[in-house]
Amino acid sequence: MSALRVFRLSVDKDERARYGIDGVNAWTLPRVHCSACGSTWAATGEAYPTVVPPNVERFIPSPSVKILNLESLSSIRQSLQEHVPEGSPIMPGAGFGPYVATARGKMPDLPWPEFWTMFMKREVFETLRDRGIKIPRVGTPQLTWRGRGGLPDLVEPEAPPLIDVVGDWSDPLSTRCTACGRRSGWWQRWSLPADTKFPALYDIVRARNAVSVYLITETFAEAFKELELTGFVLKPVAIE
Ligand SMILES: [Zn+2]
Repeated sequence: MSALRVFRLSVDKDERARYGIDGVNAWTLPRVHCSACGSTWAATGEAYPTVVPPNVERFIPSPSVKILNLESLSSIRQSLQEHVPEGSPIMPGAGFGPYVATARGKMPDLPWPEFWTMFMKREVFETLRDRGIKIPRVGTPQLTWRGRGGLPDLVEPEAPPLIDVVGDWSDPLSTRCTACGRRSGWWQRWSLPADTKFPALYDIVRARNAVSVYLITETFAEAFKELELTGFVLKPVAIE
């Protein structure tokens, strides 16, 4: 059996200075206020661009919702369970539905509206899919073009957070709240345990306990290199 190799996919910051995509997914799960630990929070990165949530009136931008309590969060999570891949955390702040944005500039093959959100030119996605790269679901952003030339045809690959990282936490004495799941602090260093299994249906996922991080398989990384695609940086992830 060959050793696990996983790569972190992130934005090419120099390239990103040449374009802009300003927007957000159509619906956002509001922040939660936790009565157990007292914090009010949301995480950044988790997104399901192909999922239209039931009861959209319970999501931002509805003016009636701003902050959820634990009970509302739990009932919304239950209503979403059958719509998202099994094992997805559905954290406060998660985005749903197509990305709605204005766009301009010179787009690389992988343009990034945010440091934690990656788009792909549709032709690139189709080439990758034809090569057997597993990206089961992609959303179609609703873009208003403010640049010269034509609007590029982009997709937003859905990368559910399904793999846990391990490592050094900034505040080792803090514990994760059992009620809301929040832990104060951040990863100073992280890696993947050697027995990590990449979910069989995917070549791209996010880290479940670091949802802004994209992780891709070696197969996917090799396709990126062979096709000489632009707009991103790849780094091998340490395996322990
Ligand atoms: Zn809490």
